Amino acid sequence: MIVIRPERLVVGDGTPARHGVAVVVEGSSITWIGTVAELARLPDTAVVIDAPDSTLMPGMIDAHVHLAYDGSPRPIDYKLATLSRSYPALALEAAHHALETLRSGFTAVRDLNAPGGVVLALRDAIARGHVPGPRIVACGQGLSVTSGHMDKGGWADHVVQRDVNAPCDGADGFRRGVREQVKRGADCIKINLCGGSSRDLSRPYKQEMTDEEVVAAIDEAHRLERHVAAHTSGGPSVTMAVRAGLDSVEHGHWIDEETADLMAERGTFYVPTLLVNEMNFEIGRDALGGSDDSWAWLDRCREDKWGSLERVRRAGAEIVVGTDAGFMVPHGRTSARELELLVQGGLSPLEAITAATSTAARLLGIEAGSVRVGAIADLVLVPGDPTRDIRSLQATETLRVWRDGREVRA
Ligand SMILES: [Zn+2]
Repeated sequence: MIVIRPERLVVGDGTPARHGVAVVVEGSSITWIGTVAELARLPDTAVVIDAPDSTLMPGMIDAHVHLAYDGSPRPIDYKLATLSRSYPALALEAAHHALETLRSGFTAVRDLNAPGGVVLALRDAIARGHVPGPRIVACGQGLSVTSGHMDKGGWADHVVQRDVNAPCDGADGFRRGVREQVKRGADCIKINLCGGSSRDLSRPYKQEMTDEEVVAAIDEAHRLERHVAAHTSGGPSVTMAVRAGLDSVEHGHWIDEETADLMAERGTFYVPTLLVNEMNFEIGRDALGGSDDSWAWLDRCREDKWGSLERVRRAGAEIVVGTDAGFMVPHGRTSARELELLVQGGLSPLEAITAATSTAARLLGIEAGSVRVGAIADLVLVPGDPTRDIRSLQATETLRVWRDGREVRA
């Protein structure tokens, strides 16, 4: 039995912090929550953690990661990662990234594309307790049209890649793609709906999948009881996909008011991944390279994403924390910056925490993300008060983290 007596408890469901509360953990679950005064005489074996200046909250959830990739800022490294390492080697690296993520206070993640079955195997190994890590909900490989966002060209004709990605074409092709990922054990489906376009910056997006392909992929995934996440930039294709039942809009740099309203009405989640956008500018053009056109697109995207976030927030659609860690963003140690960016974009610190806990758990379809009796004991103890200073979550070396009631040791 563990008894935690923090200064304040953030439940994770958006309700204000509670004070003078004790939380009892037995086995893997939270078994009692009440005032310190109500706490019955503790058995001698109870481990009591008094944390007078700290906040107890649910373990955070990152709804957009790529555990198989290392977050290298150089695009060429991302491209070569799957060519220079065997899949077993990538799986072992992914296990390292998973542990970094867990130590940083993220007790669950959703992985949205990995080569082979790398992250699906890691998910199962973690669930069996063979290796430490966060709970993983994974899509396997993201589905993309041939030559689309996740099936880019640029290779010599004689280069043959095996099982790196999952190109699909036509409505039947996408249905088959969904079934193949499900057969392999995917928990959800990722589609690459539309990408950026710098050709005309008044319409900085281009649709990759046809309407027919989008409808088929979503229909098939829902039939097989999987939710669907879409990589998007914005524009009419996003509106169409939301109408077709898309469950989460990833990135969504350009979300207009009509789409935001529709997302609220349909219960579509928004995962804006603000951190990865910022990283372009922090790493900078010297290191990243890229054409004038692509940087003009990034500039436009950097400005406009705040408006999209504001429109979605005002419409009342659900906002969820996702970092894109693995792609320009390292795993774990800077992930809580996404919450700070959401606060910069107009959410209250408590709303940002909810976006990283109970709302994210609903998107992932997992029983986690709130501190209540009967819930799984995925917890973070944070020195300070993140409901006032959201940056306190970034002091990862000061956090204490429990997963399934067991403390994660640094
Ligand atoms: Zn991503």
